[in-house]
Amino acid sequence: MKVQASLLCLAIASALSVAAAPAEAASPLKSAAVARANSQLAGNTALIRRASSDAFVARDAVVDGNGTEHVRYQRTWKGMPVIGGDFVMHSRNGKVINVSQTLKTDARPTLPARISADQAIVEAGSRFGTWFHGAPTSRTVVYARGASPVLAHEVVFNGIKADQTPTEMHYVVDARSGKVLDQWDSIHTAKPGPGGGNSGACTPAVGLGKSLTEGNVTLDTSLCGSSYRLVDMTRGGGATHNMAMKTVGMGSVFSASSNTWGNNLVTNSQTVAADAHYGIAMTWDYYKTVHGRNGIDGIGTGAVTRVHYGRNYQNAFWSDNCYCMTFGDGDNGATILPLVALDIAGHEMSHGVTSRSAGLVYSGESGGLNEATSDIFGTMVEFYANNSNDPADYVLGEELFTNNADMKKAIRYMFKPSLDNYSQDCYDPATTPTQEVHSNSGIGNHFFYLLAEGAVVPTGFGSGTWANLTPAKLVCNGNTAITGIGRTAADKIWYRALTVYMTSSTNYAGARAATISASTDLYGAASAQTNAVKAAWSAVLVN
Ligand SMILES: [Zn+2]
Repeated sequence: MKVQASLLCLAIASALSVAAAPAEAASPLKSAAVARANSQLAGNTALIRRASSDAFVARDAVVDGNGTEHVRYQRTWKGMPVIGGDFVMHSRNGKVINVSQTLKTDARPTLPARISADQAIVEAGSRFGTWFHGAPTSRTVVYARGASPVLAHEVVFNGIKADQTPTEMHYVVDARSGKVLDQWDSIHTAKPGPGGGNSGACTPAVGLGKSLTEGNVTLDTSLCGSSYRLVDMTRGGGATHNMAMKTVGMGSVFSASSNTWGNNLVTNSQTVAADAHYGIAMTWDYYKTVHGRNGIDGIGTGAVTRVHYGRNYQNAFWSDNCYCMTFGDGDNGATILPLVALDIAGHEMSHGVTSRSAGLVYSGESGGLNEATSDIFGTMVEFYANNSNDPADYVLGEELFTNNADMKKAIRYMFKPSLDNYSQDCYDPATTPTQEVHSNSGIGNHFFYLLAEGAVVPTGFGSGTWANLTPAKLVCNGNTAITGIGRTAADKIWYRALTVYMTSSTNYAGARAATISASTDLYGAASAQTNAVKAAWSAVLVN
């Protein structure tokens, strides 16, 4: 389906932020955990694969109720970022239990570079083309996602694609062979101008949103003097901005004399702002209520949400650079509505959470896990919101299409990913490692569905309908006896795996291990939940 093909790049995460990683230690509890972990680095050289000239910066900490501490580190070598060198140190009572990481060696690259930065830019440019904006940049890095770390140039090209998606292509060029080792699309949008929040004296207000896809919803807004703004003072100052069909800049915050927003019709520019403002609020509440997480960064910082981006732009994306989410108008419903539905909002905001936790690099299997994480949590947000105008399901983006009761039109299907004619159902060692990230994400989505629900055909898709599903078609290994552990447990397991055990280069085998560890922590090694995790991964051929 053409519409689906144009939506496949739905949302992009800037997953790699080695240099810009904030040292995050907001609470005294976390600060103390980081200090304790820092003191363990010297005595655990072998465990963390430490080489001389390695240095470490803590960028996140999770402290369990029982006192176990998990501190996430970025690594540099001789001042260069080590891509794939990040790890999480797990400790209890001042003793290291173990470390989660993908780096396998303390060997470091041969110096010096044979290829100059300029040569690397030329090599990367031969892939990118000539349509870049601004000057390409390059920095020297250690690329440690492969078998052994190599010296490389990380070259970045910026541009805007024909479909109006901004692009920030990263190319990792081997500094000795000149070969491109890896590439991924982060994105680059406008730098934050005023950003979120209010200027001037404002007080919280409660308004009414007459949305497009979610019915009439309550919106948390601000009253500033005599005007209302779509700025949510109860959730970190998150603000919804009108891009007015532009693709650059941050647009302007929605502001009006009335605290009723939109009229349920796409012709009113406030209508989709109501959807987006609601969707981000629901996602915020989901993370806070279900996972105890305070916003995207865990320390309560609201983000900017941009709507009416571009002209007939049929996509949505997260950008780390502006710490913002952006939504296009589609074609205003001729074939697809503005991309502001609740699960899409949850998907985009979850990219921010991933970039501030595991930091899954947006290529290969780690990129697929990044995408799957956004689909999983976007779906869980839909269940959390429990809005009768948008009944919850394991389908992404079904509300973006009209006359779609059978959900034949959607962006992704978690229970049978290949229904979109693009995504992978089952792990395939020949293709999955290099598959595009919205395709190999299907394996993670599929795992999650089977874990939560078992090999149960969802209603509306069963025998006799267009999808013609059977339990045997829901699994890759014939195990139709697999039983689900429910959404709540599956959700907790994935979140803990993401925030405590996965790192930037985690692959599907690593995700299996991470979710088993998470489930073991939560429910026990011999629990039904942990056995179900193993069975669900096996059912998508991740063993
Ligand atoms: Zn995405």
